[in-house]
Amino acid sequence: MKYVSTRGDRTPRRFSEILLEGLAPDGGLYVPVEYPTVDASTLRRWRGLSYAELAVEVITLFVDDVPPEDLRRLVTSTYTEEVFGTREIVPLDRLEPGLFLEHLSNGPTLAFKDIALQLLGALFEYELGRRGRTLNILGATSGDTGSAAEYAMRGKRGITVFMLSPHGRMSPFQQAQMYSLADPNIHNLAVEGVFDDCQDIVKAVSNDLEFKALRNIGTVNSINAARLVAQVVYYVAGYLRATDDAPDDGREVSFAVPSGNFGNICAGHVARMMGLPIRRLVLATNENDVLDEFFRTGTYRVRTGAETHETSSPSMDISKASNLERFVFDLTGRDSDRTRALFTAGAGGQGSFTLAPEEFARIAEYGFVSGRSTHADRMTTIRDTADRCGTLVDTHTADGLLVARANLEPGVPMIVLETALPAKFSAAIVEATGREPERPAALRGIEDLPTRFTVLPVDVQAVKEYIASHV
Ligand SMILES: *Cc1c(COP(=O)(O)O)cnc(C)c1O
Repeated sequence: MKYVSTRGDRTPRRFSEILLEGLAPDGGLYVPVEYPTVDASTLRRWRGLSYAELAVEVITLFVDDVPPEDLRRLVTSTYTEEVFGTREIVPLDRLEPGLFLEHLSNGPTLAFKDIALQLLGALFEYELGRRGRTLNILGATSGDTGSAAEYAMRGKRGITVFMLSPHGRMSPFQQAQMYSLADPNIHNLAVEGVFDDCQDIVKAVSNDLEFKALRNIGTVNSINAARLVAQVVYYVAGYLRATDDAPDDGREVSFAVPSGNFGNICAGHVARMMGLPIRRLVLATNENDVLDEFFRTGTYRVRTGAETHETSSPSMDISKASNLERFVFDLTGRDSDRTRALFTAGAGGQGSFTLAPEEFARIAEYGFVSGRSTHADRMTTIRDTADRCGTLVDTHTADGLLVARANLEPGVPMIVLETALPAKFSAAIVEATGREPERPAALRGIEDLPTRFTVLPVDVQAVKEYIASHV
């Protein structure tokens, strides 16, 4: 499989090339030249495979330049019970007739991002080793993404992580999760500012092309196409498990996905384009409803910082959705001129736009529907799901569940993707239910572990000097 940019650069690139890159040189995102296809006989063959074996099958369709035995080893050593807590890796539970919960959050940081990032860590180490290169990953986090990246890259040869976080502003659990890591290749930099300061520093360092090249600076953001590929697997796994009672492989299911940057649900779009029988992709947002507005009206309006709300499902608090361009590329019939025009339009080239009526009319053909929820909705959904189904869900999953219920159709199983465990967001759970959520055994008492981090001022130069003296 080769990859091209959404903005017109048609140079075909191999998987290992796009693995280590973020944006394409023309500013677009990498997409497969064409989607591989799965049909009923493929699905029949895949039934009964373990998650790791299924992952090998699916990921192989997207990778053209890693020897099969190496890819198999990297994939099967990533998706293990030891790392993901269960033999099924992504267990599927029935909440009520026709409504399922697919548990994607049993990895080391208790959120779905582990599924793609754990594999990315293994692939990075392998590819850097092949090329005799090293990579210094620079990132900013308000808690979730940074910890998933650190747990994926810890102890990996050739990789060093510099993660900026706002000093004293994360929850005690999040601080403990990141700052207790003792691996010498992980550097936690606690910046004396807010998350936006951290992000601005990362941007400033990345814009210094000379420094960036000299110090081999890279990122692990959600636009990485390899993350997308890893996420396609759990859509296939969820489909196979939800239809296992009556395995007629033409049967359709729907997925509901708590969404922020459009990374998770974009993998669902890819799975559907491949031919997986997905009826609807139900996109759920919180009060930050950029994507709900887009799918309801055809208008994509990037929000300002001041318009971005801090909510109780914080990993969905986004002002723009960096993966949406991949969907719009397909929606426009893979018209890269049109895609580039849309995403570089608007005030300051921010990429706010309105689809043409005929483009908007086609959205339904791609199965997308959407909805939003509020803090009150989340609280009610968490309480109600605990009472009626005996299952505790986190605030993000609650957003997905609310919008899923509004879009149930008779005879079509609905699979809600659980994106984090309640233990990660205990204050909101206590507010909803009056009880502390249970924490996985491995993370009990984590706040008592010794921590290791370096406090730095809000100063680009100070961060550059720290990096220069630690690579
Ligand atoms: C990242 C994240 C999301 C949003 O996923 P996108 O891929 O950005 O749409 C939702 N829930 C949780 C818990 C997350 O960590």
